[in-house]
Amino acid sequence: MAKAFKFEKTGQSIGILYFDLEGEKINKLSTEVMMELSGHIDQLKNQTDLKCLLLMSKKEGIFIAGADISEIKDINDEQSGYETAHNGQLIFDQFANLPFPTVAVIDGACMGGGTELSLACTYRLATDSPKTKIALPEVNLGILPGLGGTVRLPKLIGLQRSFDIILTGRNLNAKKAWKVGLVDKVIAAEWALEKAVEFTGEVIDGKTKKYIKRRKPKGLVSLLLEKNILGRRILFSQAKKIVLKKSKGHYPAPIKALETIKKTYKMSVKKGLEIEARALGELVCTQISKNLIQLFLWTQEIKKENGTSNESISGKDINKAGVLGAGVMGGGIAQLFASKEIQVRVKDINYDAVAKAYQQAAQVLKSQLKRRRISKYEYKQIMLRISGGVDYSGFKNTDLVVEAIVEDLNIKKKILTELENYVGENTVIATNTSSLLVDDMAEAIKKKDRFVGMHFFNPVHRMPLVEIVRGKRSSDEAVATVFNLSKKMGKTPIVVNDGPGFLVNRLLLPYMVEAISLLEEGHSVAEIDKAMLKFGMPMGPIELFDEVGVDVAFKVAKILQETMADRMAESDLLQKMVDADRLGKKNGRGFYRYKGRKKEDDPSIKEFITLKERSYLSGTELAKRMVYPMINEAARCLEEGIALRPRDVDVGMIFGTGFAPFRGGLLKYAESEGLDNIVNQLDVFEKEFGQRFKPSAALLKIQESAKGFYESEK
Ligand code: NAD
Repeated sequence: MAKAFKFEKTGQSIGILYFDLEGEKINKLSTEVMMELSGHIDQLKNQTDLKCLLLMSKKEGIFIAGADISEIKDINDEQSGYETAHNGQLIFDQFANLPFPTVAVIDGACMGGGTELSLACTYRLATDSPKTKIALPEVNLGILPGLGGTVRLPKLIGLQRSFDIILTGRNLNAKKAWKVGLVDKVIAAEWALEKAVEFTGEVIDGKTKKYIKRRKPKGLVSLLLEKNILGRRILFSQAKKIVLKKSKGHYPAPIKALETIKKTYKMSVKKGLEIEARALGELVCTQISKNLIQLFLWTQEIKKENGTSNESISGKDINKAGVLGAGVMGGGIAQLFASKEIQVRVKDINYDAVAKAYQQAAQVLKSQLKRRRISKYEYKQIMLRISGGVDYSGFKNTDLVVEAIVEDLNIKKKILTELENYVGENTVIATNTSSLLVDDMAEAIKKKDRFVGMHFFNPVHRMPLVEIVRGKRSSDEAVATVFNLSKKMGKTPIVVNDGPGFLVNRLLLPYMVEAISLLEEGHSVAEIDKAMLKFGMPMGPIELFDEVGVDVAFKVAKILQETMADRMAESDLLQKMVDADRLGKKNGRGFYRYKGRKKEDDPSIKEFITLKERSYLSGTELAKRMVYPMINEAARCLEEGIALRPRDVDVGMIFGTGFAPFRGGLLKYAESEGLDNIVNQLDVFEKEFGQRFKPSAALLKIQESAKGFYESEK
């Protein structure tokens, strides 16, 4: 049985309960750990000489990471969900009722159940370490805080401030947590123990009124909104509106959390906890929660991988990088690298582009500065790490060069050959191409094993996926280097094998092009985009054309058309739009019209559409027309070995395209629909709309096995 806690005494009357889970890097609240905590509470109850207890962690950078998610994942009925929450609540409640005051000393990440345990303490201190982050992120896993969070937090800091924490799941640093009253005092991380012991002096001397008084909001607004029933009604209805606007009704957890707070806010803690546990029981066995938890576990899994089958390879440390091409992507990549302490040298063919990339980086960083994500000092330091020019000076000592020049195979090959003369023997060379083959480019390189694809998505600072493309000759060392680097950049990488469009664009483009077919069958732009928004995509496929750039999408579509002609509808619409300079958001006019940030319908788009035979499809059918071909193609990608496993398809689609996370990814969605149904529907589409819908042999094979994508993998 793992040991998690250790009790010590300091001085005569101060106890310290240290949390230090044996054999783990983090502290988490598994059933076993909870039982051990319960045992300690039983003993502590009888320690009559104690005047105050500190709860601390011995883990570097972690207070408590939360409940053990893998246990939550396995709960499959409401009653078990309720009981798990209820049993945990009882233990925390006993902690809250210890006969002496308790102080949580939060140093490092404090998540979910960790935050709830701290709420069961009488006081909370947080260190000023940048690693200190406090959150109740349960709604992001499709559940709600079920160990007292929805009951204790609103009572502690009021409704509005609690909504901001519980309904969004966002992280608070120590200062912010102090501002909203969740934390009573911020202390220096280097002196955490000394400062905490000092604080117990104030506790024992009864000098803590000033801390307790400032927890709840004051003033007229609070009096009007929080302290009277009508005001509270307004708060709840406003919060509901905000949640629904953000979740578009696809995520039930924040709504359930809101309802729970509404019911329990004026109740005793005991009664409130009962309602909270029931609500958790309901949410925890929903498919949406299972999908979101699975996604979280996948990201954790990827954090432990290196992108190769050889675990012992750690890849190169990247301290200095070069970026070729100072365009949209080059500028974004330079900013990202510099933000993670990498010196970056950017090269373009003209100074204007270099200056623009510099401005682009500054713009992203200024918005981070405005939102206080970085300090003025950090801003300056990051910008100082970026330099640029029109020659290869500064490239000699680079550990990595990322090529992000124009999408033209001949130009890229010429530049890669040239580049090899200016970099060291061991410099890893990566290409950010979105549609050319890594192996075709590798022909231009002498030392082919150092070459690999590192496909970032636009905008680089926001898109969480990096598709690492392994060419036939790419070495494990090169793959692990860019895989680990992507993780260091805060991104989620997946490794795919080389092939037209790699994985994500190969699935996405036919989907977008299918939207054009639907336009040509008489469906409107609004109708098509609405169908996919309703499905759960962050934006419709037509709007996506405008975002990506109609010209950029057209170029990629044309390249894919060469190998996928039988699976992609043909159309002259994109060509006509490019000719008419309707390039999308970037020049104010594409499928939609843009006025500043505002997007408007543009009826003139009809002039570009060549109408074919009219089809009449409902929103659900429209979505199937666009999504099912992606499933069909994904089966091919798995069989061809482009994608290495179903997980990578789902992670790739969610993080690369925003594919509805609550559906668990493209293949999890396919399994929830049933492969028989999908194949039948594709058959119908094939008869009605053409052979591009024909179920692939790969899909039929999985259907016939009756196992689904994930089971077939085993
Ligand atoms: P861009 O047109 O904005 O920038 C390309 C830059 O390369 C220009 O500044 C150009 O002056 C420069 N350049 C051209 N020849 C050069 C040379 N010989 N040496 C150095 N610089 C040179 O293009 P982008 O959108 O940033 O795309 C760059 C690459 O990234 C392409 O391979 C593209 O497929 C890929 N990509 C683009 C996106 C996207 O959405 N824009 C997404 C993923 C990947």
